[in-house]
Amino acid sequence: MTYPFSAVVGQADLRLALVLNAVSPAVGGVLVRGEKGTAKSTAVRAVAALLPDVSVIPGCRFSCEPGSADPQCPDGPHPATGGGASQRPARLVELPVGAAEDRLVGALDIERALAEGVKSFEPGLLAAAHRGVLYVDEVNLLHDHLVDLLLDAAAMGASYVEREGVSVRHAARFLLVGTMNPEEGELRPQLLDRFGLTVEVTASRETDERVEVVRRRLAYDADPAAFAARWAPQEQQVRTRIAEARALLPDVRLGDAALRQIAATCAAFEVDGMRADIVMARTATALAAWAGRTVVLAEDVRQAALLALPHRRRRNPFDAPGLDEDKLDETLERARAEAESEPEPGEDDPDPDGDGPDGPDDDGGGGAPQPQDSPAEPDPGTGADAGQAQDQAQGQAQPPAPGGPPQEQPAAPAAEPFKARTLTVPGLGEGAAGRRSRARTAQGRTTGARRPEGTLGRLHLAATVQAAAPYQRARGRTGPGLVLRRDDLREAVREGRESNLVLFVVDASGSMAARQRMSAVKGAVLSLLLDAYQRRDKVGLVTFRGTGAEVALPPTSSVDAGAARLEKLPTGGRTPLAAGLLKAHEVLRVERLRDPSRRALLVVVTDGRATGGPDPVALGARAARLLAASGTAAVVVDCETGPVRLGLAGALAADLGAVAVTLGELRADTVSALVKDVRRAA
Ligand SMILES: [Zn+2]
Repeated sequence: MTYPFSAVVGQADLRLALVLNAVSPAVGGVLVRGEKGTAKSTAVRAVAALLPDVSVIPGCRFSCEPGSADPQCPDGPHPATGGGASQRPARLVELPVGAAEDRLVGALDIERALAEGVKSFEPGLLAAAHRGVLYVDEVNLLHDHLVDLLLDAAAMGASYVEREGVSVRHAARFLLVGTMNPEEGELRPQLLDRFGLTVEVTASRETDERVEVVRRRLAYDADPAAFAARWAPQEQQVRTRIAEARALLPDVRLGDAALRQIAATCAAFEVDGMRADIVMARTATALAAWAGRTVVLAEDVRQAALLALPHRRRRNPFDAPGLDEDKLDETLERARAEAESEPEPGEDDPDPDGDGPDGPDDDGGGGAPQPQDSPAEPDPGTGADAGQAQDQAQGQAQPPAPGGPPQEQPAAPAAEPFKARTLTVPGLGEGAAGRRSRARTAQGRTTGARRPEGTLGRLHLAATVQAAAPYQRARGRTGPGLVLRRDDLREAVREGRESNLVLFVVDASGSMAARQRMSAVKGAVLSLLLDAYQRRDKVGLVTFRGTGAEVALPPTSSVDAGAARLEKLPTGGRTPLAAGLLKAHEVLRVERLRDPSRRALLVVVTDGRATGGPDPVALGARAARLLAASGTAAVVVDCETGPVRLGLAGALAADLGAVAVTLGELRADTVSALVKDVRRAA
């Protein structure tokens, strides 16, 4: 007995987003973002009960619809007519983040295929979710290979499985709903884009609302059946309204004005491609149907933007979520005014640029003053400077170095991030699936075969046949199939990619602090952070300057936090290189205890000019050798520039057993731009 949808307190956006998908599956699903303990899943699990029942061919495990059966249905072919029909409720199927591939796409029984010549397929979750809801809790933690399968199925509306030349294909169209806690890492952009709508869910700050949440939850837990019975009338009401809205949907008209508003909004918020326009149009149409209207109004467009755009507008994972509502209203108003000043259709537009003397129109709406251009956009200069001044004031606690360069400099802005070259941990790991270093994994490409220990993994066909072949006569083979025994079976040894911990150790001392140069360094680290985000790594940040080192960001999967710390990083003072390396050593030691299978990659960003104390360079070298002895893989990003070079970063790399690369060499594409920047600064 699931918790009734209508009994969910608050969470208006989430409930609306789910209802709109129930009204129009073309909206394309919902991604729900929110911190832990916001009961995100309660409303999601409850929504399936509101979907109309589905009519299926009895006995078909792939939920074929009578009269329009999937021609490729593995349980088919179904008779074109007849075959009967039965009604069943729409299903909600949950995909666990750690599910094996077979669980999602289904399992082809290769043993039977080989031994009996029978194509035997056990349907997976994609088949179960067809014509229903596929729900992924913690969707941001979903393994990459499952994400790829999910993206394929969502794009094709079908699932395709192939094993050793035997293949199965079946329809898989479902409403995709995911929930996630953004603090635990972001979604891959391709998957993010797959969700029609996103909503942010927060726990209510209202006492009354919180009381009501708890009251209902307790009542439900005490007696779920009685609770559901009490809410049955409300549930029925919502279900009826959804059914009515579905019936109305084909009649809803999306007028030219609304279409223009949609296009203008998508352009104003700089979304990629046309997908956002289409999702917005579908959402606005569903909103009108839900309201019992056949015409899309401006308010539908506005609401659709709030639901459909926040996750598409984001250019990189470090921007804050949400949508600037002032900017949205301004855009909608401008599009409306433009639409009204348009000549009637059929006439040629004499002024296609719209830069004619269009005053406020005479429709009575002219009373509202036209918003001035761009008051909402803060002057980037003043905003940033104010922040820097504050950082500077806070940093003044450090004792100034006598006669030295200024102890503290305002935080330099990061240069534009670029596509970074992939840095990897050498050797073969066994860490969690990811996209960085080579590893033995359950997925990936086959590199050999072995006798299985325990249950059989992915079958290695050639090795199995080879093992069985010599015994065929002895086993009295007569039929077409191979006579197989269990101990003939060989499984594939596979190699894929793992994710790592990328720990940055960034030198923020005076020698690095030339403003342009620090910008370039920050831009480079930001690029590596972006790269780490895409490869699902954990990241951490240690900085050193002045008298010591600090952990600016403890290892986390939230790369945004790393970027935020980096942006504000103050610079100046001496270069306690050894302190930075020792701090990194300590962070890595703790992480090894916490997450032993995750291998670390240390990225030291410095010019290597250690200062402070009696023999800073030797001390740094000793710290480096300590790290090398612990088996840490490392890369030194050499930031030294200018005509006189000491080559200290190279020496540091040697002590670390690391590779040294220059800032420019970090770029995947070209070397030139950054190097030029750095030269200019030096
Ligand atoms: Zn079927």
